[in-house]
Amino acid sequence: MREDVFLQRKDFFVLDALRCLRHDNSQNQCSKCINICDFDAIVVFKKKITLKSELCTNCGECIGSCPTESLSLESFDITNFVLEFVQKDTNTVTDGLDIPTLAMLDVHHIVSMIIRKKSNLEFIATSQTKEKIIKYISDKIDTANLFLEQIKSGYKAQLVVQSTSSDIKKRGLLKNIFSITKDIKQDINASTHLKKAQKFVPPKVTLFKNSLKLIADELEVDTINTVKGLIANKKIDFQTCTNCGECAHFCPTQALFRTSDNDGIYFQSGKCIGCGVCKMVCEPNAITSPSTVELNRFMFDQADLLVQYEYRPCVECKTAFAYKGTSDLCDRCGTYKNDFEDMFTMAKDI
Ligand code: SF4
Ligand code: SF4
Repeated sequence: MREDVFLQRKDFFVLDALRCLRHDNSQNQCSKCINICDFDAIVVFKKKITLKSELCTNCGECIGSCPTESLSLESFDITNFVLEFVQKDTNTVTDGLDIPTLAMLDVHHIVSMIIRKKSNLEFIATSQTKEKIIKYISDKIDTANLFLEQIKSGYKAQLVVQSTSSDIKKRGLLKNIFSITKDIKQDINASTHLKKAQKFVPPKVTLFKNSLKLIADELEVDTINTVKGLIANKKIDFQTCTNCGECAHFCPTQALFRTSDNDGIYFQSGKCIGCGVCKMVCEPNAITSPSTVELNRFMFDQADLLVQYEYRPCVECKTAFAYKGTSDLCDRCGTYKNDFEDMFTMAKDI
């Protein structure tokens, strides 16, 4: 496989198509990056997300929106930024000065910064920050605060919109830093990358869990409401599920996985990115999203057994089938019996 098929670049901006939710599942409709890009630089081509490098401006405004972290700036690692920020003696993050764009941040980063800093934080939008980005970061901050309130952290994030134009010079400064530190890695081995990218838990999820572990002893609550885009939970209805395994097969992070003998399906909330792929591929609609989740199970990656099957031979055809405590017939013989009974009743009526 050619590297440029899945690692698409514009200077130091990289779209890793292999990690994109649309890579394995052409039916997936995720288009968060497309919606935020002002330059139409990201398009769907042959059902895959594709970078039009001639239109990309390296702005990085799509980065925080990607649930799988398929998008990045090679010269600016967002996880490192968070870890370095918490060591600094400041409680503000200014758009275009401290970070190329506030839109590189997701809720996971904001919550992690506050938990690790143990203080309120201000995210400063300047006169050059686009309205769209202000709306984006404002929504992320609201979601972060919703979570911080639930765990009774006592701290919150705030968006400050500055209307001065004195930041123009600062933006120029940032641009210079970028041109100096630009270091494009051209030597990534395609097959190594392919292995690494499969079933990948995004770094922002790991960062968030590790941040929670730091305050695990101080947490007064364990069961909290799920928060869209941050922390999710799943349940499978035993009677509806056919144990086809499609959900586990398509789950991009292995949050849903099957037992080695394929008799059951487990779920790890700590790996779920809430992408909705499992619900989309489940034909009988057996998957639901409970409204609460246990924080301890989430942060320590504990797995819940959602369904477990006992296989029995069908009393008619002797083929092994997933017994659900009701019928002794497999699905095929059960359907045949129902159809036959209908025909028999109809014949009697005639
Ligand atoms: S469990 Fe479902 S929603 Fe969660 S990551 Fe897997 S496919 Fe996405
Ligand atoms: S939950 Fe749905 S997709 Fe998953 S094994 Fe059951 S029927 Fe198949």
